[in-house]
Amino acid sequence: ASLDAVAARDPKVQAFLEVSADLALTAAASVDAARARGEALPPLAGVPVAFKDNMQLVGTHTTCASRMLEGYESPFTATCVRRVLDAGAVPVGKTNMDEFAFGSSTESSAFHPTANPWDTSRVPGGSSGGSAAAVASGQVALALGSDTGGSIRQPASFCGVVGLKPSYGVVSRYGVVAFGSSLDQVGPFGRRVEDVALAMDALTCAGRDPYDATSQDCEPDFRAHLDDPVEGHTVGVVPELMATPGLTDEVRAGIALARAALESQGARVVEVELPSIASAIAAYYVIAPCEAFSNLARFDGVRYGRQQDGCSSLARQTALSRARGFGQEAKRRQLLGAYLLSSGTYDKYYYPAQQVRTLITRDYARAFARCDAILMPASPRTAFRFGEVSDPTQMYAADAFTISSNIAGNGSVSVPLGLGADSGMPVSAQLQGPAFGDCRLLAFARALE
Ligand code: GLN
Repeated sequence: ASLDAVAARDPKVQAFLEVSADLALTAAASVDAARARGEALPPLAGVPVAFKDNMQLVGTHTTCASRMLEGYESPFTATCVRRVLDAGAVPVGKTNMDEFAFGSSTESSAFHPTANPWDTSRVPGGSSGGSAAAVASGQVALALGSDTGGSIRQPASFCGVVGLKPSYGVVSRYGVVAFGSSLDQVGPFGRRVEDVALAMDALTCAGRDPYDATSQDCEPDFRAHLDDPVEGHTVGVVPELMATPGLTDEVRAGIALARAALESQGARVVEVELPSIASAIAAYYVIAPCEAFSNLARFDGVRYGRQQDGCSSLARQTALSRARGFGQEAKRRQLLGAYLLSSGTYDKYYYPAQQVRTLITRDYARAFARCDAILMPASPRTAFRFGEVSDPTQMYAADAFTISSNIAGNGSVSVPLGLGADSGMPVSAQLQGPAFGDCRLLAFARALE
């Protein structure tokens, strides 16, 4: 049924870069066989799932939507993918994204754009836009994305689905092509919070992954905690965030409704302060490009990446392979990273950015001493039209509300609230929780459904 939905809907939405029909049919047949033998089925048995194309899956290509990796065959399977498949899920394919996850609209894919299923003249958000659109258009029930500065929560909000960025370390990054290693986190998209909780149980039930030194053990009981009441718990709101430039009235109205819904269920609302968030975008666009520059150095056309033929020297071959393989935004990020890490500029930018990182983390610690979750927008506005945001710094502002929780490492989730009165497009709230409090966070998210 999922493959039929892809055939019917994806020509318009273009969420997929590759459909793995053979893998899907094989996995589905083995679920059927287990059922016929009367075996107990695993929790995601037969659930069609899609993976962002920066995740390795043997039998598929992993391109990161870049010419640099066109035709690259996954040599092994990422832990996050493996765990979802071990839980019985059926791999339907690999989804489109901004090249190497740089972006907020999926427009920087080297192959094709993805359309927002609610209005195909608009973007699905990014960088995990293909995963969000595949779930929103009913082609798959679940999808995985990665979030370095908002790339799960912002597309989830643009497409009206639930998207969770777990706390840093909860989900293994092994086999996911690195962007900013201290910020990257894998998480699920689903239509309901319960679907996301089921995916989280599959992703975490085997405990920490020895192949990712930053992965941690955490209690894998997301579904069991879903019905925990919000009554008696405290939700923080941040008044100064509601003055963020570009925040639209319909999003502001949505957040007011979400606050009222939580209050009506017995949550207490308190005002908290996160003053350093104002510097989060600036700090992120120092830290993330530096890490990206370091991570993407491996794509030299020799160790990894498309190799330019017929060059007179190795230096020329590397230069041409990189010049032809990377798109504009990927080049911009790497040039920025190279500059920021060079001597002289390091002290001026990189070091202060790390200091801001500490300040943001302290702000959160202070805020979470007073509340159990923080309510804020997921995105300043609803989905924009293709080409509408062409200035890169304007595009970077799309993550005004999401970046800080990558910087501090705490979990956060985007929950759809309905359609905006002005744009008619999905509006979401974002809930953020303390680090490793992701089970409780999903219980709060459920209270908004
Ligand atoms: N939009 C942000 C960026 O372009 C975040 C991307 C992401 O989370 N992968 O870097």
